[in-house]
Amino acid sequence: MKKHNYSAGPCILPQEVFKEASQATLDFNNSGLSILEISHRSKDFVDVMEEARSLSLELLGLEGKGYKALFLQGGASLQFLMVAYNLLEKKAAYLNTGTWAANAIKEAKLFGEVDVVASSEDKKFSYIPKKYDIPADADYFHCTSNNTIYGTQMKKFPATRIPLICDMSSDIFSRQLDFSKFDLIYAGAQKNMGPAGTTLVVIKEDILGEVSRKIPSMLNYKLHLDKDSMYNTPSVYAVYVSMLTLRWLKDLGGISAIEEQNKKKAALLYSEIDINPLFKGYTAVEDRSIMNATFTLSKESLKERFDSMWKEAGINGLNGHRSVGGYRASMYNALPLESVQILVDVMSDLERKA
Ligand SMILES: *Cc1c(COP(=O)(O)O)cnc(C)c1O
Repeated sequence: MKKHNYSAGPCILPQEVFKEASQATLDFNNSGLSILEISHRSKDFVDVMEEARSLSLELLGLEGKGYKALFLQGGASLQFLMVAYNLLEKKAAYLNTGTWAANAIKEAKLFGEVDVVASSEDKKFSYIPKKYDIPADADYFHCTSNNTIYGTQMKKFPATRIPLICDMSSDIFSRQLDFSKFDLIYAGAQKNMGPAGTTLVVIKEDILGEVSRKIPSMLNYKLHLDKDSMYNTPSVYAVYVSMLTLRWLKDLGGISAIEEQNKKKAALLYSEIDINPLFKGYTAVEDRSIMNATFTLSKESLKERFDSMWKEAGINGLNGHRSVGGYRASMYNALPLESVQILVDVMSDLERKA
């Protein structure tokens, strides 16, 4: 039986995508070859890469606006480093909203001065700081749109004249934003777009070329752009499956259509968290993520019972991140509303039986 998969990443993808990808593993485009054994320079794969890149820009509404998309390797974690390598000349501004933001800050410090404009560490990253100033002389401002571990999400982004850079790993393609406000967006595929092994980077080309240091080839955005994301062998399979997921999203009606579903799923779960006395939300209500909902039991003694109930209901991946504990329900694009209903039913069942 298919599980209700709440895993935070790698995560659930559409069943249709799994089916098509398994077919392509045996015979890709009726070529008599598997997607796993073709050349990355073959026309069949170059078409996949180009479709993945153009679908990304199309879904984000960034076509014809000076942006290009890349599918790189090394995860979002390598972007922590690449962003600074390519863009930090003297000083950069960062918002610290949790572990991933802190890791980005750590890497940036290797390249220059880092001004942490605000942090929510005082309350274990359970909220998004709202009041801060971004220095006008910084090379860029970096933030994390959705904090996967804590379940907080930025609803508003600051207006600034310096380049705006965002780690959107866990909410890319999940909600409408004016993406043209951002100059560089990156996202590890495995949270909401595809399998592990590739990272989407969307860059406004005109922000590059400002730093004086020499940049090694594999870390150089300009070189990857010039080579159409094919400087070396890309993650063929991960890019292919990401492309299928982007096609699925486009057929569904794009980001605005999926956002409506995501909001329904989140509203259903948060309302149970709020009305059920056995559960407590972890984050500030106004900063709740529609992707990752974090909550705890009000009585630790119920843990064993609750855990066995949700496992029996076919639910997978509900444990909170090891640094926070409690529970985390990751409701990425491909998770159906029915799966959320199953979880809510288990939660209200627990209340009835407790
Ligand atoms: C998971 C995650 C990362 C790290 O991604 P990797 O691809 O494993 O390097 C970075 N940022 C956010 C917001 C994440 O959720």
